[in-house]
Amino acid sequence: MAEKRDYYEVLGVSKNASDAEIKAAYKKMAIKYHPDRNPGDKEAEEKFKEAAEAYDVLRDPQKRQQYDQFGFAGMGGQGGFGGASMNMDDIFSMFGDIFGGRGGFGGFGGFGGFGGGGGGHTTYKGADLRLKVRLTLEEVATGVTKKFKVRKNVTCSACNGTGSADGKKETCSQCKGSGSVYKTINSMFGRMQTQTTCPSCNGTGSVIKNKCPKCGGEGVVNGEEIIEIAIPAGVDDGMVVTASGKGHAGKQNGVPGDIQVFIEVEPHKELIRNGQNLEYNLLLDVPTAVLGGSAEVPTIDGKVKIKIEPGTQPGKIMRLRGKGLPAVSGYGYGYGDLIVNIGVYVPRTLSKEENEMFERMRGSENMRPKAEEKESFFKRFKKIFE
Ligand SMILES: [Zn+2]
Ligand SMILES: [Zn+2]
Repeated sequence: MAEKRDYYEVLGVSKNASDAEIKAAYKKMAIKYHPDRNPGDKEAEEKFKEAAEAYDVLRDPQKRQQYDQFGFAGMGGQGGFGGASMNMDDIFSMFGDIFGGRGGFGGFGGFGGFGGGGGGHTTYKGADLRLKVRLTLEEVATGVTKKFKVRKNVTCSACNGTGSADGKKETCSQCKGSGSVYKTINSMFGRMQTQTTCPSCNGTGSVIKNKCPKCGGEGVVNGEEIIEIAIPAGVDDGMVVTASGKGHAGKQNGVPGDIQVFIEVEPHKELIRNGQNLEYNLLLDVPTAVLGGSAEVPTIDGKVKIKIEPGTQPGKIMRLRGKGLPAVSGYGYGYGDLIVNIGVYVPRTLSKEENEMFERMRGSENMRPKAEEKESFFKRFKKIFE
């Protein structure tokens, strides 16, 4: 087995990272390496599990302290957490914590769910469908309803989904309608009986003798449907919107599957997204920075004019409150801000006349920063780059 990597290294965070940083780092990795985005990619799956394991320890203050103190040795035999043996169910339930699972917006929840097992009849469940949609930032800001043309199993119209030509079903003779059968096996503990799904009726308890000729008894046929799915405002790359019951129809009037819509957001020409905030890099000309004036700033719903104070310094940050993106309903409140990072463009070429003007200014005392201004200016820059 390969050497285990340090949990902080796995998530790419520092040893003194805050809970929020750890969560954000994990979220990023989980989206990147999610099996649905990397079907069949073993390496991605390993990375996905590795990140989940690291997060499982670092999110828990007690486990994290033990790990900090004793390393992997401190992790031995932790309840439910045995080294690399986290199972996928655990990982997906952790997703619930991060992406939530409320309302129509289902995060990554709702995987599997075919139930079956012990007593009771099995009902067929239609498979889920996975779609991808690419949104503009403008669509993210307002939310949007998208139409999808999907090919999927639909209810057979000839038999109304029953699968039976005459509408009749008979009780399964092998399991007597119970849906399960007992199998006797010889084990090291002696003869044991185990209960399994009846193979004749697939656990439904009934069989169709006179099958519908159109669907061959399945109750579903290939079809096509135009489906409208409302994408809520504020979604981000890698999120999943679930449309319950819009997936493949279930055989013999079973439960329909869901449609999971994977969100991709196109980068905006001018605005940079940072969670709910948007950022814009504004480059002022020298006269406007010196004399003050106004500048145009693009927002998600059109341009706005902002006032530039005389003596505006490069590195200044202005915040247009509420001009960012809305929170996804149920995952936060209100709107983010638009952050304007101000820079100053220093001209590279000058006319003779401009050259003379600058030469004249060179001698002026006002052109030179005072000592304390010099210090605070570079401090601010350092902050930005750290
Ligand atoms: Zn049966
Ligand atoms: Zn049919």
